[in-house]
Amino acid sequence: DAALAVPDKQVDSVCPYCGVGCQLTYNIRDNKIVFVEGRDGPANRERLCVKGRYGFDYAHHPQRLTVPLIRRLDAPKSGEFSMDPARVLDVFREATWEEALDAAGGALARIRDTHGKRALAGFGSAKGSNEEAYLFQKLVRTGFGSNNVDHCTRLCHASSVAALLEGIGSGAVSNPVMDVTLAEVVIVIGANPTVNHPVAATWIKNAIRNGTRLVVCDPRRSDLARSAHRYLQFKPDTDVALLNAMMHTIVAEGLVDKDFIASRTIGYAELEQNVAGYSPELMAPICGVDADTIRYVARLYATSKASMILWGMGISQHIHGTDNARCLIALALMTGQIGRPGTGLHPLRGQNNVQGASDAGLIPMMFPDYQRVDNPQALAKFEQAWGMPLDSTPGLTVVEIMHAIPRGEIRGMYIMGENPAMSDPDANHARASLAALEHLVVQDIFLTETAYLADVILPASAFPEKTGSFTNTDRLVQIGRQAIDPPGQARQDLWIIQQMAQRLGLDWNYGHVSEVFDEMRRIMPSIGGITWDRLEREHAVTYPCTTEGDPGQPVVFTEQFPRESGRARFVPADIIPADERPDSAYPMVLITGRQLEHWHTGSMTRRTAVLDAIEPDPVALVHPLDLAALGGQPGDVITIASRRGEVALYARADDSSPRGAIFVPFCYYEAAINRLTNAALDPFGKIPEFKYCAIRVALGGAV
Ligand code: SF4
Repeated sequence: DAALAVPDKQVDSVCPYCGVGCQLTYNIRDNKIVFVEGRDGPANRERLCVKGRYGFDYAHHPQRLTVPLIRRLDAPKSGEFSMDPARVLDVFREATWEEALDAAGGALARIRDTHGKRALAGFGSAKGSNEEAYLFQKLVRTGFGSNNVDHCTRLCHASSVAALLEGIGSGAVSNPVMDVTLAEVVIVIGANPTVNHPVAATWIKNAIRNGTRLVVCDPRRSDLARSAHRYLQFKPDTDVALLNAMMHTIVAEGLVDKDFIASRTIGYAELEQNVAGYSPELMAPICGVDADTIRYVARLYATSKASMILWGMGISQHIHGTDNARCLIALALMTGQIGRPGTGLHPLRGQNNVQGASDAGLIPMMFPDYQRVDNPQALAKFEQAWGMPLDSTPGLTVVEIMHAIPRGEIRGMYIMGENPAMSDPDANHARASLAALEHLVVQDIFLTETAYLADVILPASAFPEKTGSFTNTDRLVQIGRQAIDPPGQARQDLWIIQQMAQRLGLDWNYGHVSEVFDEMRRIMPSIGGITWDRLEREHAVTYPCTTEGDPGQPVVFTEQFPRESGRARFVPADIIPADERPDSAYPMVLITGRQLEHWHTGSMTRRTAVLDAIEPDPVALVHPLDLAALGGQPGDVITIASRRGEVALYARADDSSPRGAIFVPFCYYEAAINRLTNAALDPFGKIPEFKYCAIRVALGGAV
């Protein structure tokens, strides 16, 4: 209705979905968002993808939680998840805020006082603001008393961050995405930006038009591969073989940057010795890329004036994810392709604030700004800042917490805006663990699959209903502004966290969100120079920004690396096979990921009219020849099973995957594919192996 589309208010904000961090304007009429436009932000220059442009009406969905809920005493924590409103009130009863908060905080405090501080854990959210992430981790560390706090970074780039911190002393990107326009050569490996970082993909395509040569390396042929100068379709799980073979070529052909290695790095001799055993001839049959192509791409990357690497979950979500990232770091260091515009390392961050939430300390081994909890100086600093003794033992990670619950080590949890019942590997096990908790508090905007297992549900605010800062994949800190009011009795998350803190014995009384940001910048040197006023004025400031007036540094490591010696470190890696290889019982491979139209576990985008209309049903992408071998047609229902569970969904013929590998998005609750995935962890990043497990497939089943 055109009349309805005339806004009575416009509010400048940022996109709530991916880490690109596009700036946008909400157009509001009568407290409803009617349409969204792109703004001239540093990351998007007015561009938006389909999610940013159309993915807003979830905020107005009739299934929004609007009243606090308490689980009925006789409602079992079992059975299938149901969104049927009649079923919901069979399981939960409505409560006042006072009653719900007393029940939520009281039960967690009792568990802490009876079973000790490490009997509790909290999951924060990469969808929340920096200030929410900061207060949430502070609540766990000071109110619960342990470091058992984590969030979905553990499921996406934890291994990349582990390798980056170890190798170059910083877990964030070295150069912004936009630097692809300054690069001669860009390698995109294990990432599908057209789907997962769509506006970033447009900058890559613009760069190609201006002469940049793109190399795409991925077992799945992404859309971007069609624009690539070279596409390397390596076999799933063989990243280290391919990357070590490239490094072997660079060493063998004398293409290393000797000056850079001598002046800026340590550990090169061990790396050189290690890659000596990985000749392209030996690795070609393993990774499935011919030796000449490996050599060609290695030369191209090493000899260009500026080469840049971007990567995604295809690199990180393996039990050897840290090794994969170590190889990418070594590639950049040995060729000196870092520390200048158009070069560097860019792990494409997934959620809109996964960078900021990690920076703010929403991880179990680090205080804000990656200051280790077991470092005595850091511990003393935060004990002084927060005015109480803190736990110096690193806490448990996401998957470790799910395994600690059945052992009785974790008895109560507070989950804000995450949905582990859908997003965790081996989701049947994760759901059983959540159901086994003595007390589970969930703070969310919808009755998610996780909230369905809660004892108390606290109705929270959606992204456009609150103000806060968000840090994108480029280290840009930007403001998301409140555009509409929360529905019913739903409250802003900062208020809810503070109410919970008070029930746990903390005397918190923050007013405006800027008061939280001010506290953060006092103890986080990386953002010390960013004031709230400046954010309001400039909309976006890049960190590191250590003093007021500092313009911020989009390109880092220009002179030295933030390690003790100032030098980066090479860490060699050898081939480690996937935890669960195909065999005669489970002969195929499952790869999980996202779709363009849907976001993560689907709680927002599946309640967005346009996006859900484009992709309404759970689908599996199957190679046409594999589908034909099953006797199936596109659109048929297939059942996929692993050793941990099975799901039925529709088959879509798709020749972008290699034969024998099936790709399934993890956003469909009717076919929750994480029931099948493997919870085996990378030993360094503690990230699960979402990108590889053994499955079998049969025609038929019921969706
Ligand atoms: Fe939002 Fe990412 Fe799309 Fe930009 S590219 S509009 S940040 S989902």
